[in-house]
Amino acid sequence: MKEKFMRPEILYPLFADISSLKGIGTKTVKLLQNLLGSTKLIDLAFHLPSNLVDRSYCPKLVDAISGRICTIKAKVVEHIAPKSKHQPYKVIMSDGTDNISLIFFKIYADSIAKNLPIGSTRIVSGKLDSFNGNLQMSHPDYIVDENDINKLPLFEAVYPLTAGISTKMINRYINQALQKVPNLPEWLDNEFLKKQGWNNFRQALTNVHSPRYRSDLEPFSKDRARLAYDELLANQLALAIVRERVKKQKGRIIKGNGMLRKKIMEKLSFELTKAQKNVLAEIYTDQAEPFRMLRLLQGDVGSGKTIVALLAMLNAVESGVQAAIMAPTEILAKQHYETIAPLCEDIGIKAELLIGKTKGKTRNNILQDLENGKINIIIGTHALFQEDVKYKDLGFVVVDEQHRFGVHQRLSLSNKGDKADVLIMTATPIPRTLVLTSYGDMEYSKIDQMPEGRKPVDTRVLPVSKLGETIAALKRKLEEGTRAYWVCPLVEESEKIDLAAAEARYTDLQNFFGDKVGLVHGKMKEKDKDIVMERFKKGEINLLVATTVIEVGVNVPEATVMVIEHAERFGLAQLHQLRGRVKRGINPATCLLLYSMPLSEIAQERLNIMKQTEDGFLIAEKDLELRGGGEILGTRQSGFCSFRLADMDYHKNLLVIANQDAKLILNKDPNLQSERGQALRTLLYLFEKDDSIKNYRG
Ligand code: ADP
Ligand code: MG
Repeated sequence: MKEKFMRPEILYPLFADISSLKGIGTKTVKLLQNLLGSTKLIDLAFHLPSNLVDRSYCPKLVDAISGRICTIKAKVVEHIAPKSKHQPYKVIMSDGTDNISLIFFKIYADSIAKNLPIGSTRIVSGKLDSFNGNLQMSHPDYIVDENDINKLPLFEAVYPLTAGISTKMINRYINQALQKVPNLPEWLDNEFLKKQGWNNFRQALTNVHSPRYRSDLEPFSKDRARLAYDELLANQLALAIVRERVKKQKGRIIKGNGMLRKKIMEKLSFELTKAQKNVLAEIYTDQAEPFRMLRLLQGDVGSGKTIVALLAMLNAVESGVQAAIMAPTEILAKQHYETIAPLCEDIGIKAELLIGKTKGKTRNNILQDLENGKINIIIGTHALFQEDVKYKDLGFVVVDEQHRFGVHQRLSLSNKGDKADVLIMTATPIPRTLVLTSYGDMEYSKIDQMPEGRKPVDTRVLPVSKLGETIAALKRKLEEGTRAYWVCPLVEESEKIDLAAAEARYTDLQNFFGDKVGLVHGKMKEKDKDIVMERFKKGEINLLVATTVIEVGVNVPEATVMVIEHAERFGLAQLHQLRGRVKRGINPATCLLLYSMPLSEIAQERLNIMKQTEDGFLIAEKDLELRGGGEILGTRQSGFCSFRLADMDYHKNLLVIANQDAKLILNKDPNLQSERGQALRTLLYLFEKDDSIKNYRG
């Protein structure tokens, strides 16, 4: 039975648009959309407070400690209107023990007369100061009638905001959103819930929005932990479902006779490393199984993944099917093509390149040859899975992803083939935790060894005040005939500033080095980028100024110097990737990390690690350990699954439990039919895992 799977009705209110809230205008909706990334009520409800204001300190004025947030009940005794535009309006109040002045700048006398009439008793809340020995409060956060005391929150949640949205506003909207949260069926195991002492989902969500103590804001607080766990469980369950689906499908047996692989190895000037041999053995075993293969191949930059992928593809070709390799960018696809095609040609195998730029007759010919089977290996970008691309018999797909593809793109290419086996390659070593969050329990192989004879990169950490010396040293290197990258500062908030900085540096360096300097940046058209990259490859340019676009896999063996400006702003994984760019050749390489002050402790630690090790796996682990404070740039673009409620810095242990839990659930109740199973479906929809359960056989 194939069930139509749809969002359960009980969740509809949470997926309503925030424009349906009371007292919200289109302008505010737009601002909230920018803040939350969506206009769904659920995202408002999942916007957690980052702080709290405790207004529960309600002293008599005579005892009040200035500097604190106070809530004070007092009588208005006098208004002192300003004598000039620059003076504030003052309202004197008394509670019988002492006086306090409320200070207002730029305010209409009318509104003061209305809100604070002389003789009335009011409750005001805000930060208490003392000025010349007198108590005062500027622009109180709240002024309420003594009968309206409940309009004044004694504990106020403070949220990450955006210009145009105030704490009061967001509190009001979030309160409304919380009213709409229904009681949902419990999807967590009862025993487990009891053991953790957790509240139900609705209660937990309500509680996190009404923090009382600082400890309520901690990731480990009971209610935050529960919500984090829910999110992690949804993530792990969705991944497990996709994986089961792929695994259950009958696959094909790929088992070649080894002839092509033997010929290739004879052409190559090197032996495979032990690590390469090991992972190949794992891949060949998978390929030979009658199930669909889905395996992740991890290997640091330069560890030799390409040749491993090629050998696996040749195994497929030997057994009579076609193989494809998909890269995230045209530059990378071309690079693979340039490595693979000549080798294939030598052994009589036809490999072609199909990218967006492939047009007209060339493209038609390629499409024809893919369909009639003349092409054995096709290399390209997502262009490989456009509608009109048909294969004779695609049996093996390599996705060189570098984190740029989502699960769906991965699967859509493999769907082109009849039960094609899939190998996913990633260049960034990923710590175990992140493998789990992005891939679930996918089998994975690790190339944990570099080919022999690689020389360590001479990595130096320098203050930017040494820029002059750096340029002089660079000059010597360039005169010796090397090529160099110069990576420009990243400014997260604004690509414009980024670009301006890169362009300014480019002009500086051009003034110094002349016209053999080139510039590539993210805003350039792919075509123009290619032209510059091509010139750098050919050596027409020998100094390439770049924003981090070069992070993704360019291969220029002659480039042996990497200068990174504002290295303190980059994450470890990024620095490591960038440094990997200059390890491609036989000559010893240099990496100069220029930093500016102030240098935070974490940044300093990162730079130290870069100096100490080149082991990508170690660096990745350290990266995860050190991460924090929003300091690392470019984590979002790394494409890792990002969570709204869970935080991988704190909830790793919960992730491991969720992973086990998901496995148990699917073992016991593979179709999510039981009572808990039904509740878990709601959980999946709550966290918008619709895609992974669509078409799920229920
Ligand atoms: P990756 O894709 O993992 O970054 P590549 O496959 O591009 O690495 O390999 C980097 C370089 O190392 C290439 O020039 C490749 O020919 C070479 N190489 C690969 N395997 C070996 C090996 N076993 N011994 C020596 N060199 C190797
Ligand atoms: Mg490669």
